[in-house]
Amino acid sequence: MPGVAILLVSHSRSLAEATAALIRQVTGADLRLALAAGSGEEGAELGTDVLAIQAAIEALDSPAGTLILMDMGSALLSTEMALNLLTDSLRERVQLSSGPFVEGAMAAALAASGGAPLSAVRQEAENGLGMKQQQLASDRNSLEQPPPPATPVTPEQQRRLRLSDPAGLHLRPAAALAKLALARTTPSRIRAARHPEQAASATSLTAMLGLDLRQGDELIMETSGADAAAFFDAAAQILATPSAPNPADQIVPRVPSRPGGTVAGFAQGPLLIPKALLARVPETHDPDSTKSLQQFQAALEKVQQQLSNHPIVAAQALLLQDPVLLEQTRKRIQEDHLAAAPAWAQVITEAAARMDTLSDPIVRARAADLRDLGQRVLQALGIAVESTISPGAPAILLVDELLPSVALHLDPRQVLGVIDRHGSTHSHAAILLRGAGIPYIINADNPALSSARSVAMDGTTGEIWLDPDPVTLKKLLEHDATRCALPEQGDYGQISLSDGSRLELWANVASAAEADTARRLGATGIGLLRTEFFFLDQQTLPDEENQTRALSQIMAPMQGRPIIVRALDAGADKPLGFMPLGDEANPALGRRGLRALLAFPDIFALQLRAMLRAGRNHQLSIMLPMVTNPEELREARGILEQAHHTLEAAGQAHRWPVSLGIMAEVPAVALCMDGFNELADFVSIGSNDLTQYTLASDRSNPLLDALGNAAHPAVLELCRKIARDSLVPVSICGEAAGDPDIAPLLVDCGLRRLSMAPRRLPEIFTLLSQRSSHTHE
Ligand code: PEP
Ligand code: MG
Repeated sequence: MPGVAILLVSHSRSLAEATAALIRQVTGADLRLALAAGSGEEGAELGTDVLAIQAAIEALDSPAGTLILMDMGSALLSTEMALNLLTDSLRERVQLSSGPFVEGAMAAALAASGGAPLSAVRQEAENGLGMKQQQLASDRNSLEQPPPPATPVTPEQQRRLRLSDPAGLHLRPAAALAKLALARTTPSRIRAARHPEQAASATSLTAMLGLDLRQGDELIMETSGADAAAFFDAAAQILATPSAPNPADQIVPRVPSRPGGTVAGFAQGPLLIPKALLARVPETHDPDSTKSLQQFQAALEKVQQQLSNHPIVAAQALLLQDPVLLEQTRKRIQEDHLAAAPAWAQVITEAAARMDTLSDPIVRARAADLRDLGQRVLQALGIAVESTISPGAPAILLVDELLPSVALHLDPRQVLGVIDRHGSTHSHAAILLRGAGIPYIINADNPALSSARSVAMDGTTGEIWLDPDPVTLKKLLEHDATRCALPEQGDYGQISLSDGSRLELWANVASAAEADTARRLGATGIGLLRTEFFFLDQQTLPDEENQTRALSQIMAPMQGRPIIVRALDAGADKPLGFMPLGDEANPALGRRGLRALLAFPDIFALQLRAMLRAGRNHQLSIMLPMVTNPEELREARGILEQAHHTLEAAGQAHRWPVSLGIMAEVPAVALCMDGFNELADFVSIGSNDLTQYTLASDRSNPLLDALGNAAHPAVLELCRKIARDSLVPVSICGEAAGDPDIAPLLVDCGLRRLSMAPRRLPEIFTLLSQRSSHTHE
């Protein structure tokens, strides 16, 4: 007979869905679970809906009964009204729970999936708060200080079993065990028979993973209470369920909604999960531990919120609730008066280092998760992150989310490819990898990945082969050899169109290597020299000499050709430690690009001076990012002129005059070109941002990859309008220009200057030349 059903009634659809996802991780698909959450169409608005609640109860209609958990206030009222609409016989089988929404639902779900009757399921839900109270009291037991049994353990309080899972005790079963333990009021712990002196609280994921339990180990579980036997049975069931990867699952399907490749290319080699990504945090103290505790709590909540947008990391996110990690951090804040960031960094570093020493590769992989989470919390605490991954020997990286600051340093000779558990096609990290020619796959969520020793990957199709056997590998390599490799030299910069006009292909670069490729492939000029990547990993503002030197190196290969350097585009996903922009609810709509530069005029002026000096022997133009109104351009021109006067007064050689242009990334610019025609010397369409702002589609959100498409008619219409309304030269330098599906549409919009990653030049040149010759015929 089907067990008790659970209905979640919430004001928020996302809250109910996230709670259901948490529950499903532990109970699996068998539990009868439904949601009645949100109001309005598809529950998109906050509120509860009586009829939706009624319909959900009727649909569940479990003979064993239904328990309803409600989040707050009017959810209860709506549910009571819905009960009045039910038939008498159905109403008798429904009970409302006063338990806390998330913990109560989890406890109830566990009991229901264990076959408990309705009254017991309700009791479990009601105990939800007790569990948290108990947990706070008992979790001071850490890995170092296992809870000593108050009395000698009786046979009823202990169960031994052998671990049969080839992966040992890894994250998923440990998480399920932690949930089971958290749902009880009595403390429970586990230990390995081979190290009986080390015990871990069963509520702590990290402590359990730290036991390094492997296949074949005898595991001792201990607890007391009337439900001890039920606890042991449930735990035994969790541990008996094998979770080794299914070999039939070897090829991971590509998840991104938009096919065609994040960064194309084939790679094969050892898989490396990078270690040292945790920022080095100075050991600062703060006597106000209450304030530090509040900052820590706020950072945790911020990261929990970020992670809740990533269903793939739900299991890893549990690490953030780990009572041992949290308690140890709070202890260091309160007792040692450490500031929040160093306290957290120390605890994570130590816990991750312990995991590094474990034998199980899957658990070892969790150390990377832990560092990654550690890093997110540090970022939320305002610490700039460390960003160098250097594999030592060529390898393919498996990362949890490639940050632009990390992507920046990847050396294609060392990093053969990158597989990202998250990521987004339009991210700055993807742009950097495209520039460096490093194949990149995003949204790879197969848990088996982290235990592979070597992989082959196809960045075009998104396919991944785990530990490919020699025959498969040979076939893949043969196939790869038939693909066209990047030519050494070429003349891919100019195309004559059938209407007599000339189409120019320019290059987007951020490094001297890319500028060199642009030169070799005959780019007409540099249409976008991104400068922010030079600053991303700097803790302090680089001085004028350093900036001049860095820019000169990038410009050198393009001597004699036009170069458009873009002023610093900081903010949003490219925060800079030395440019504190404050906490913004919507950084992409906040002080970014030119807005940030005008807020820090000294930093802006310093960069302009470095540009003018570096460009003294080049055809230099300067471009401003994220412009909205002509007034901003006027102000920027004033600062540029001042930079020139300063250099002149100091007798410093520099380029003058220079053209000053704007990026069209904000729809307002496209719609009001008139205001810029007299002020700007040129315009370059930043289709990456123009797309995100036109379609209200966050370019860094992988779930919106399909929506954020520059080929959307609204974006194309804006491009057409800019090409038509502008009285000054127009180019486009967003990724769309190098996309074979979109580039022809841009030409049709009237654009004649396309600037793209240098490696895209041969393909786009061939495509557009063929198209032009067809139009001739
Ligand atoms: C753009 O927005 O299209 C652009 C080129 O700028 P970035 O991608 O650096 O934001
Ligand atoms: Mg942009």
